[in-house]
Amino acid sequence: MKEYDIVIVGGGPGGSMAAKVAAEKGLKTIFFERGRKPGEKNSSGCGLGPRMWRSWPDMMKNLTEDKCPSLRAGRFARNYLVDKKGEVSAMILARPTESVTYEPAKSFITMNCYRSEFDPWMADLATNAGAELKCSLLIKGLIKENGTVKGVVDEKGEKYMAPIVIGADGAVSMVAKQSGLRDKWYHDHITLVPQYDFYAPREKIDLIMHEEALAVWWMAGGIPSAYQVFFGDGFHVGLGNWMQSWEKNPLYYLNYVVNLKHFQRLIKMLGAKPREVQAHLLPWMPYPEKTYANGVMLIGDAAGFPCPLEAEGIFPAMESAEIAVEVAAEAIAEGDYSENKLKEYERRWQEESSIGTEFDAGPQLWSVWKALPFNAKNMDWFIPMVSEALTGIFDWSEPHKVRIRQIVAHVKKYLPQAMPTLMSEFVPLFTKALEDDMGKLMDPSIMPTLINLLPKLMSLMPDKKKKRRRRK
Ligand SMILES: Cc1cc2nc3c(=O)[nH]c(=O)nc-3n(C[C@H](O)[C@H](O)[C@H](O)COP(=O)(O)OP(=O)(O)OC[C@H]3O[C@@H](n4cnc5c(N)ncnc54)[C@H](O)[C@@H]3O)c2cc1C
Repeated sequence: MKEYDIVIVGGGPGGSMAAKVAAEKGLKTIFFERGRKPGEKNSSGCGLGPRMWRSWPDMMKNLTEDKCPSLRAGRFARNYLVDKKGEVSAMILARPTESVTYEPAKSFITMNCYRSEFDPWMADLATNAGAELKCSLLIKGLIKENGTVKGVVDEKGEKYMAPIVIGADGAVSMVAKQSGLRDKWYHDHITLVPQYDFYAPREKIDLIMHEEALAVWWMAGGIPSAYQVFFGDGFHVGLGNWMQSWEKNPLYYLNYVVNLKHFQRLIKMLGAKPREVQAHLLPWMPYPEKTYANGVMLIGDAAGFPCPLEAEGIFPAMESAEIAVEVAAEAIAEGDYSENKLKEYERRWQEESSIGTEFDAGPQLWSVWKALPFNAKNMDWFIPMVSEALTGIFDWSEPHKVRIRQIVAHVKKYLPQAMPTLMSEFVPLFTKALEDDMGKLMDPSIMPTLINLLPKLMSLMPDKKKKRRRRK
């Protein structure tokens, strides 16, 4: 039996961050990874958002290409709108906009790298700070005394005792289950994400994709929307859906996307070769459930922290790690590891972290995603309506006035289908997001202009079509 101040189960970004911060605080820390090294399962999934650099500038400035060769920054996200027939009907290239307030974020949407490089880099930071790491070791159970978690036991029966155990063991969390915090996921709180990883030479990626960090393939025709992320020497493409929503084998849908004419063209241009097939679980929930119990706290995916709109999960895993360790250090100093003390962890992530801010509108954000990219029926009006509205004017076969009338008439056709979703999803989201600042955001001086706009427009409409005289 070995004794520590903190035991951390999991060597992903959350576990390594927790181990690093705990060791820096002088706590005797051990963290465990079932893989032969952290990041071995290579869930690819690693677009790191600017919040990482904003929150931990000293740490992140050391993540450089020599330590992480797949690192690639990009400031564009391409959106492909794909119709029912599998044709790309519109493309929208997005980059950070004028309203972005964190200046460095204007130069990149995400910094992409493979988890097989990022996770070991994070784990090294923890071991360099003094934490002990044990790899190739499965933690099988929690040790409890009178309902309080007191340590863990590994697959060989070895016991590791600590007053605080942190569950950083991902989506299929043994710690969540055995501590009684979560028995099973609800079907629509967890997604399955199949993914293909492709090799492509860096020169071609840089030349052809230029500053593109990632792409989203918004799909009609009953296919979940897919994402594509570009790394230094390759890219991955994947798609996800709630567990109960797959009518066919998930690879059927992914193959559909990869076999799109447009996608195949990209593969040829990049000289891309398939490298790996992966499938992972990813929590995607409107609001996390309880994240603490006597002697134990859950962080990252184990707690259900990926963002409820698009499931960015690395930043929240690391942010929650920091908060959990702060509370653990206080609990250790006070000698109080009770649920009552550790509920401070939940209070802090809810009230003082960006995780709490995100989940404040969690149900609304989650519901929008559920109603659109994960809802085949709605995507069948969404794709043609948005394509028409945004790109219809690029047509020279008619005078522009005629085109505008055609576009308005066509968009109108979709409104009866679109309105219920717009009203039930977007109105609550905007109401929630604006609730604190409505007064500040709505400038009263523009209200009369808005109110007068409609009668003004109506008054400009002629009753009858007048014949215009040609000028002589
Ligand atoms: C396909 C895919 C793409 C994604 N893309 C992105 C992205 O681009 N950006 C982003 O921010 N997020 C992304 N995510 C989400 C992100 O991967 C997770 O939110 C993040 O990895 C959570 O970190 P974590 O440390 O909580 O858990 P994990 O990364 O899951 O780490 C848990 C670790 O614990 C180990 N472990 C589990 N059980 C035990 C045990 N009993 N004993 C010992 N070790 C154990 C596991 O092997 C694993 O290494 C993606 C997820 C998927 C599935």
